[in-house]
Amino acid sequence: MEHKHHIVVVGGGAGGLELVTRLGNRLGRKGKARITLVDAGLTHVWKPLLHEVASGSLDASANEINYRAHARKHHYEFQLGRMTGLDRQDHRIVIAPFHDSEGNEVVPERHIRYDTLVLAVGSTANDFGTPGAQDHCLFLDSLPQARRFHNLMLNAFLRKNHYAKEGHDHQLPITIIGAGATGVELAAELRLASRELPVYGMNHLSPGDIRVSVIEAADRILPALPARLSLAATRELQNQDVQVLTGQPVAEVRKNVVVMKDGTEIPSEMTIWAAGIKAPEWLGRLDVETTRGNQVAVKQTLQSVTDPDIFAFGDCAACPQPGSDRPVPPRAQAAHQQADTLFKTLRHRLDGGEPVPFVYHDHGSLINFSRYTTVGNLMGNLSGRSMYVEGKVARLFYASLYRMHQNALHGPVRTAIIWAMDRVSRAMQPRLKLH
Ligand SMILES: Cc1cc2nc3c(=O)[nH]c(=O)nc-3n(C[C@H](O)[C@H](O)[C@H](O)COP(=O)(O)OP(=O)(O)OC[C@H]3O[C@@H](n4cnc5c(N)ncnc54)[C@H](O)[C@@H]3O)c2cc1C
Repeated sequence: MEHKHHIVVVGGGAGGLELVTRLGNRLGRKGKARITLVDAGLTHVWKPLLHEVASGSLDASANEINYRAHARKHHYEFQLGRMTGLDRQDHRIVIAPFHDSEGNEVVPERHIRYDTLVLAVGSTANDFGTPGAQDHCLFLDSLPQARRFHNLMLNAFLRKNHYAKEGHDHQLPITIIGAGATGVELAAELRLASRELPVYGMNHLSPGDIRVSVIEAADRILPALPARLSLAATRELQNQDVQVLTGQPVAEVRKNVVVMKDGTEIPSEMTIWAAGIKAPEWLGRLDVETTRGNQVAVKQTLQSVTDPDIFAFGDCAACPQPGSDRPVPPRAQAAHQQADTLFKTLRHRLDGGEPVPFVYHDHGSLINFSRYTTVGNLMGNLSGRSMYVEGKVARLFYASLYRMHQNALHGPVRTAIIWAMDRVSRAMQPRLKLH
């Protein structure tokens, strides 16, 4: 049988799923190459939506894509499983055995051979080894974690509502550690939940009973973004009665308490870690060069510096940027652009062509304060200068990043239909997911 070039993409997230969709449509469909996606989960939800899933302002199932169904439609194969190893000499990856929720082995360890391997396995939160963080914090790295947060939050609201009815202490302190975009947006989402839930029967609670705080070690929130944005975001959080604590790192997290470096103890019944990211630790054990944060070291072409048959992109790769000593930032925007470049490279590669260097275009940063407002800066394409935007215009640009992702996965017609259906279901359903 004729050997077809086999491209294996590990990780069907913001970047990986866009890449396999395009490869499947262009190469898989015509039989020019065999395309396989490996993912540890059965479904895809775009990661920047996870804080909305956690707070309940978005129903994940309406935004979930089943990999098997998507693979069939877009001419690639799907393998469920978690990659754990790599044999570069033999061009094989190792997939760990798959167990069901009761611990029964469903599929044993497997090996998949590749001609070209693409790693797009994303990142996880980085707790920087803070004592107690793993035991007492919630994380928002995956859909199951976002759903767990949502259930815990609903139960906490229910419990406090009961206490309030009985005349007991019923304040619910919630602390978010890390005031980057994720932490700030989550704070606004939680404030929305605290305002909406009393409407749905938990009427012994008032929004002020839910005390939301964000903690940032740097001296301002959103430290990676321009100062003007930090200022606007701080004002917005304060308007929403969110406490903002800056200028001191967290030293330890205990059950119901966050301990600051100076020893101050902050009561916290739900603590969410949203400070910093790192690539998964198992990447650092593979036989390819990685950085201290476990990111695969790649050239500007997204090709591993160790092995020309291995590519990596998105959050799990450290890709240099010309004229800067910082790698491409770990953002959905970057993963989307890299998927585009890598698609061109992999197509050329089949004909023996050279890989295309990746150049990151920062289109700006937008921070969405749930249904309240959106603020941000947009980069002028020609001038390279940034422009401050807020309100409806900013909201439109914010939403467009997700629409671009949907467009890459479904094409323009289905994206327009999904958009229309979203509007209808928003009008028909409660503003919060209540289960
Ligand atoms: C709450 C939140 C809000 C965010 N908001 C924004 C935003 O507004 N704008 C923005 O630009 N960025 C945002 N980001 C960052 C953005 O989500 C990431 O930069 C982006 O998702 C990275 O894409 P990726 O393809 O590298 O990885 P991911 O999208 O994380 O996908 C990784 C995939 O790999 C799979 N995987 C992991 N390990 C394995 C394994 N061992 N084997 C097989 N599969 C595996 C996972 O199941 C997942 O499907 C946000 C992040 C979070 C958490």
